Amino acid sequence: MESGMISVDRWAAGSQAYFLTHLHADHTAGLSAAWRRGPLFCSRLTAKLIPCKFPGFDVSLLRIVEIGTWHSLSLTSPSSRSSVEFVFKAIDAQHCPVALFGDQNFLATEFADLPLLICSVMYLFRGESGCTLHTGDFRWESNSLGTENGRAVLIDALKDQTLDTLYLDNTYCNPQYSFPSREVASKQIVDIIMSHPNDEVVIAIDSLGKEDLLLYISQALSMKIWVWPERLQIMHLLGFHENFTTQTSLTRIRAIPRYSFKTDTLNKLNEFRGPTIGIMPSGMPWAVARKDGNTVGASASHVNEKECSKNPGSCSEIHGLGGNSGNATKYYEVHYSDHSCYSEIQEFIELLRPVNIKGIVSSRSCCINPRYYFGHLCGPEQALWRVQQKLDYEEDLRRAEVAEIKPIADGVSHVSGRKRKNDHMNFFGIRISRVSLLGRLSRGARITSTESCSE
Ligand SMILES: [Zn+2]
Repeated sequence: MESGMISVDRWAAGSQAYFLTHLHADHTAGLSAAWRRGPLFCSRLTAKLIPCKFPGFDVSLLRIVEIGTWHSLSLTSPSSRSSVEFVFKAIDAQHCPVALFGDQNFLATEFADLPLLICSVMYLFRGESGCTLHTGDFRWESNSLGTENGRAVLIDALKDQTLDTLYLDNTYCNPQYSFPSREVASKQIVDIIMSHPNDEVVIAIDSLGKEDLLLYISQALSMKIWVWPERLQIMHLLGFHENFTTQTSLTRIRAIPRYSFKTDTLNKLNEFRGPTIGIMPSGMPWAVARKDGNTVGASASHVNEKECSKNPGSCSEIHGLGGNSGNATKYYEVHYSDHSCYSEIQEFIELLRPVNIKGIVSSRSCCINPRYYFGHLCGPEQALWRVQQKLDYEEDLRRAEVAEIKPIADGVSHVSGRKRKNDHMNFFGIRISRVSLLGRLSRGARITSTESCSE
């Protein structure tokens, strides 16, 4: 897309339309209450939170993008001065907050009565000048319903177009990074808290995000969680009125800003409020390589227990949970991440096969240009391969539809017609039985489904 038309999470002058993926500080640098440069497109929930983050913001500049719906926009080409039409769509990035307690979330089965929230989004742009996807920050957890839905939305939205440019969240684009799902990590954190039934607990969080984790803890332990006043305001804006408090006397669990999660803070709490443990949910500590050459992220448990030294800022590692640390303050690094790990990024790129790929994170020394690992999945040939896979898939669907379906006898369906090479077809990692496919297309004939999916 020609420069001077659209900016995503970039706020310099010179664009005609500005898109915000989510409200984390590294995506809003340059945005302020004094914003006047043009319309700002964002999700409905982000629009709700903007006045809280930027008091006095001119909300008449906000343009709400409904998730999953195509929107059209007409801009002017800076070079030809002609009108340029394109459409765009916002897709759930599963970053912050994730689809809380809706039918896409792992917590859905346990707490089905809380609202569905989508704040962070990716943007897909399609127009005369090509097709571009900007992920913002995103998590693409294998086997999650959110990812399954996202995959279907992307395949449908791209149709038979090549994806010319993918702007990718490359925060953990390195084979070093291997995380469990947030479901697994959440349960690990609850286990840690339950293993210290008499201790104060301090959890490090940002000003936005990890609400699903906090709610999970609150629900699992039937306990409110202390948050600081500004964070409570955000929780209320998100619709959570019951699980959080600013009264320290009501709970032993506190969520504090990440910047104040320090060894001396924990030591002081340990000294003045009684036994205290800290929990740092993050992917970042796991980048640290050990002296034996193994990375911390290679730990089977994805939980790392450390104890705070009396020297501010330093710590020593305790091997294995439950180690005897005497009176020293303990804290746990738990591999809970709202960004995709390496294998998830790989799966995402294998799905999309863009012509070009660009990492959106370059400020951290550990960030790697995604072309280094995934260049072989990019380029015009790869993009055409993806399109051909989709056309083949649609042809298979068409053939399945016209296959003769005989009536059911004794509860067993019989399908005749073209001989199939095998019982299953594979489309971008989605393995679907042909009997199930026919079941979906049977136009009223009842077919015993034998669908099985694997990734
Ligand atoms: Zn973020």
